Amino acid sequence: MKKQKTPDVYDVLIVGGGLVGASLAVALKPLALNVALVDAFQAKDQQHPAYDDRAIALSYGSQLIYQGMGIWSDIQTDATAIKTIHISDQGHFGATRLSAQQENIEALGYLVESRRLGQQLYQALSDQRIDRYMPARVETITHHTDFLEVTLEQAGKTKTLRCQLLVAADGTRSSLRELAAIGVQHTDYHQVGVVANVSTEKAHQNQAFERFTSKGPIALLPLSNQRSSLIWTQPSNEAAAILALEDTHFLQQLGNAFGYRLGRFTKVGKRSAFPLSLVTADRNTAERIVLIGNASHTLHPVAGQGLNLALRDVAVLADLLAQQRQPLAVSALLLDYEQQRQQDLKETIRYTDGLVRLFSNPNVFLGHLRAGGLIMVDRISPLRKRLTRQSMGTQYRQSRLSRGLTLSTTTG
Ligand SMILES: Cc1cc2nc3c(=O)[nH]c(=O)nc-3n(C[C@H](O)[C@H](O)[C@H](O)COP(=O)(O)OP(=O)(O)OC[C@H]3O[C@@H](n4cnc5c(N)ncnc54)[C@H](O)[C@@H]3O)c2cc1C
Repeated sequence: MKKQKTPDVYDVLIVGGGLVGASLAVALKPLALNVALVDAFQAKDQQHPAYDDRAIALSYGSQLIYQGMGIWSDIQTDATAIKTIHISDQGHFGATRLSAQQENIEALGYLVESRRLGQQLYQALSDQRIDRYMPARVETITHHTDFLEVTLEQAGKTKTLRCQLLVAADGTRSSLRELAAIGVQHTDYHQVGVVANVSTEKAHQNQAFERFTSKGPIALLPLSNQRSSLIWTQPSNEAAAILALEDTHFLQQLGNAFGYRLGRFTKVGKRSAFPLSLVTADRNTAERIVLIGNASHTLHPVAGQGLNLALRDVAVLADLLAQQRQPLAVSALLLDYEQQRQQDLKETIRYTDGLVRLFSNPNVFLGHLRAGGLIMVDRISPLRKRLTRQSMGTQYRQSRLSRGLTLSTTTG
């Protein structure tokens, strides 16, 4: 049973209704908690990041999390299965193949269009059990003994809300992180991800490709209607020229860099560009505040880990909230959260950053090492299993949602 609502007083206030904040809101729906979601844009606004053009590779682990939330079957309707991942290094012979068949599972992951995923999440929130303040921006936070007071700017007016726990899911430039005086480490990769949907001569047959080149990685991921989603990493100072290329030249240059495993590239859709950097918060909690998703960690998209990692933030936080009674024991909850997320965050960030650095380096010796490494991973079963598990996002499964189980509440 939901608690009786007191206007503008919430147990949990989520700021940021991108894919991560909206996912948390859906995860908390079955719990006896008063929850509200705030975002600077209307959910249907084209500027809303949940509605942009990128396609997202959801790992098997994320599939289980959405399954636990009860929305996987809807998401799957529009998703394309990834049956194999082929990893190679331009100019070297080494290659590694990860396959769903070897793991005895249906798919290593699924590709979904960010826009569709956003729509599915907001569809799941449409029964209005979760209050929404959209468009609205957080302006100030004031600490009181038993709650936080948050002021919002909404349609030129100021609105004041109270909450026991404030969740910052407000993205890479999180203003809540700043208001909470949490610092960040910022590494600019001096790279831009050029993103577009492309068609190829041969059918993709549900294969994903990760190809490392001296300029940066290229990811080609299987989409519906025999399209593939491309993330082509370019040095920042060369990206504008690539973006401006006329389609035929763009497709030719892409073929030269990626090779012809799927035949020639035949068509390219709208191109967009994302500057790439690693941004990590110095800590993920402050008094009554927790950072999740890009507000906590923004990664290079090379290995498709950003949202998958964030969904594990969501799963752990939702699980801890499900175990709470009223009033929430927020300090203890945040301590548990930090402790439970520490290792996954550290390892996934190190893994992604390590890939970018190792594979974006033109050094000849490192080139041989990479080729040797890929062959080794391909031949040695435990190494391949480790890489597969990282890609599948199944190495940390302490929360109920990450095991595909439904949450229910103990909150009174
Ligand atoms: C090219 C590319 C490809 C990617 N591919 C993959 C992939 O294959 N797999 C994967 O797992 N990840 C991938 N990612 C990463 C993934 O897209 C991100 O991890 C994820 O979208 C982060 O979502 P978020 O909700 O944390 O942040 P955001 O999407 O930035 O959302 C933040 C929200 O907060 C709101 N907001 C900000 N400030 C305020 C404020 N003051 N008040 C109110 N609201 C505010 C914003 O309007 C926004 O809606 C990719 C990223 C890129 C760039």
